[in-house]
Amino acid sequence: MDLAGAAHAAVDQICDYYQTIEQRPVTSQVERGYLAKRLPEEAPAQGEAWDSIEHDFQQHIMTGITHWQHPMFYGFFPSNASYEGILADMYSSALTNPGFNWNASPAVTELEFIVLDWFAKMMGLSSAFLSNDLSHHGGGIILGSASEATLTIAIAARDRALRALMEQSSESHADPLSWKLSMQTKLVMYGTTQTHSVASKAAMMLGIRYRALDVHRKDNYGLRGETLKQALDEDTSRGRVPFLLGTLIITYSVATYGTTNSCAIDRLDELADVAQSSPLLWLHVDAAYGGVTWCLPEDRSQKLLDTFNNHYDSISTNLHKWGLVQMECSPTYVRDRFDLAKALSVTLDILKSKDMDANELNDLRNLQIVLGRRFRALKVWFVLRSYGVEGFREHLRKHIRLAHSFAKQIESLPEFEIVNPPRWGLVMFRLRKTDDDCDVDELNHRFNDAIQDRGKELFLSPTVLPEKGYCERLVVGAASTTQDHIDKAVEILQECAKKVLSK
Ligand SMILES: *Cc1c(COP(=O)(O)O)cnc(C)c1O
Repeated sequence: MDLAGAAHAAVDQICDYYQTIEQRPVTSQVERGYLAKRLPEEAPAQGEAWDSIEHDFQQHIMTGITHWQHPMFYGFFPSNASYEGILADMYSSALTNPGFNWNASPAVTELEFIVLDWFAKMMGLSSAFLSNDLSHHGGGIILGSASEATLTIAIAARDRALRALMEQSSESHADPLSWKLSMQTKLVMYGTTQTHSVASKAAMMLGIRYRALDVHRKDNYGLRGETLKQALDEDTSRGRVPFLLGTLIITYSVATYGTTNSCAIDRLDELADVAQSSPLLWLHVDAAYGGVTWCLPEDRSQKLLDTFNNHYDSISTNLHKWGLVQMECSPTYVRDRFDLAKALSVTLDILKSKDMDANELNDLRNLQIVLGRRFRALKVWFVLRSYGVEGFREHLRKHIRLAHSFAKQIESLPEFEIVNPPRWGLVMFRLRKTDDDCDVDELNHRFNDAIQDRGKELFLSPTVLPEKGYCERLVVGAASTTQDHIDKAVEILQECAKKVLSK
């Protein structure tokens, strides 16, 4: 078969895959190491026929795939997909080019800023965050993941703080690099015990001290202003070294809008208040999963938007989680793109020139860690055009309704309890204690084993909720999930419960 013919056939197969996905087991049933037993240890010396490659793909790779687009996939957070996104990724692959600056392919850069602005407006971000509004330097970039966004922002925040400290200090800076390295040991970055590990990992990679601040069940695990204030006071007093005029602080705090574990929301308003007295503190919101809900007028308060728009430095959200756009797609907005460019552009010596040319902001390479990258904007453009703002909202609302329907059914069943108020597509629940002697964590570990045994039919992932214990998370996320699938999930979970409780 010629390869163009094979490509045509593959498109048919992709469509068939989506239309028949429910016939597949949700989770892969293979053992770790299965593939090395099946595939040769060396690449073939001579090229092979496509038919044989395709055959092995179906035979050996598809068996090792867990189907995240299956309507009964309820684990982790979704990584949902759309035909529009597939088509965009196919075109993007076909046009492969690294898009690092405007010249590399003008449409890649220009479409990115346009769709970033579309989405910023959908989220209710103020014009300060629009890339094509030239009255300021705010704007965005589509990064590959929340991990990359957090690292990128941490780099920019570190650089901004060190620059500010340098300007404030009266020392001579004959050797600015050494000075910056020595000052870096004073920096500390904050998250909470519920913040995603991307934050501590970014700090680890940058060699910056990281503190996970305490959050509590009574606050729904959201970070409070008083906790931040206490940490700021402690760290400021610990780090006080006289020659620096008392400002040896602290650069960066990751607030979360919808933590991964429980969808907790840090108190963005209180944190902003406290941060007023720490001008070096960069306020970033990691809204990887929850950020898309800012597109729902009924789900976001004006106060939330005002707080963010007036006080926060940056936000990132993953369209590749709940937003129908294939991986990798994390729109990331900053109040001042020069903070990114000063830390990430090699075309200017930032120590010499404080004023960069605004054109620097129009080359993607100056706003990101990597040089070349995919044409990410295309899939956002296809999805937003095909769904429209209203269709995109309806997609989210449908999942929220389904999650509520699931929670309601679980709540009505005596063997279960809801352990945290449902939020968006997430419901956290577990089996109730059967009697006073019951070890409820142990019971729920067995419940989880029973659920995992049904992995061909559905998939859920468990977690541990602080001050509560081991429990299950059900996240509605696949684009194709319907009420019937939710009802079926309840039925299976009841069967699992019965099996465990009858022992
Ligand atoms: C999923 C998630 C991440 C990690 O996302 P990646 O894009 O896979 O790096 C980070 N933070 C939060 C709050 C998340 O939900």
